[in-house]
Amino acid sequence: MENEIGTLYVVATPIGNLEDITLRALRILKEVDIILCEDTRTTHTLLNKYEIKTKCISYHTHSTEGKANAILELIRDGKNLALVSDAGTPCISDPGVLLISQIKSEFGNEAKVVPIPGASALITALSACGVSVADFIFLGFLPHKKGRETLFKEIAISERPMVFYESSHRILKALESMIKVCPDKKVTIARELTKFYEEFLTGKPDELLRILEGDTNKQKGEFVVIVAPL
Ligand code: SAM
Repeated sequence: MENEIGTLYVVATPIGNLEDITLRALRILKEVDIILCEDTRTTHTLLNKYEIKTKCISYHTHSTEGKANAILELIRDGKNLALVSDAGTPCISDPGVLLISQIKSEFGNEAKVVPIPGASALITALSACGVSVADFIFLGFLPHKKGRETLFKEIAISERPMVFYESSHRILKALESMIKVCPDKKVTIARELTKFYEEFLTGKPDELLRILEGDTNKQKGEFVVIVAPL
């Protein structure tokens, strides 16, 4: 008789505060044969806190085809795996989608890919930003160069809230771009969510730029930016 194929659990992990993980996620991380980690060192911090000793191997954007094939082989052998990223939900601006599409094309509708929901910076920011987000458009990370200014023009004319991820290196530039194309929009910056320096700042782009330029600490960390329609 053929082996039953294994399951890939797509497990959301905390985006800062290590308590933000579900009981189900902890059980799955304990029970699987192997955890596929974007960065094993980051995941070990979480696993150590919960005394989880499961074997970890790395799987990230630059993983080779050979690595993906080895993972498919493990699944064919009936091994259960968990996929985690450094923070939040895998595949949301994070690695994983290629592996999942490979599993689905290899095993078709027999593929067992199970989401274990939990934190994501996107939903965490939206939940407390005070903007009506019955519908919204998520842009992920904006491109660094080509197409960036075009996207800001789309943000300017959008009738729906536009949400994007931004790094500390480009947050001031993003505000400067918005001062040019949509100076009157209400922008919310959600910074360091669930962490010690968590803060939400809302204002027109020039007001936010002034606040951030006035305190370099406010330029640090991780950001979700929400631009409300006029
Ligand atoms: N998969 C993750 C998720 O579900 O949110 C997102 C990963 S993406 C590589 C990392 C980006 O998400 C950061 O640059 C930042 O824009 C946003 N982010 C992640 N953690 C955050 C936090 N604690 N506070 C604010 N933004 C965060």
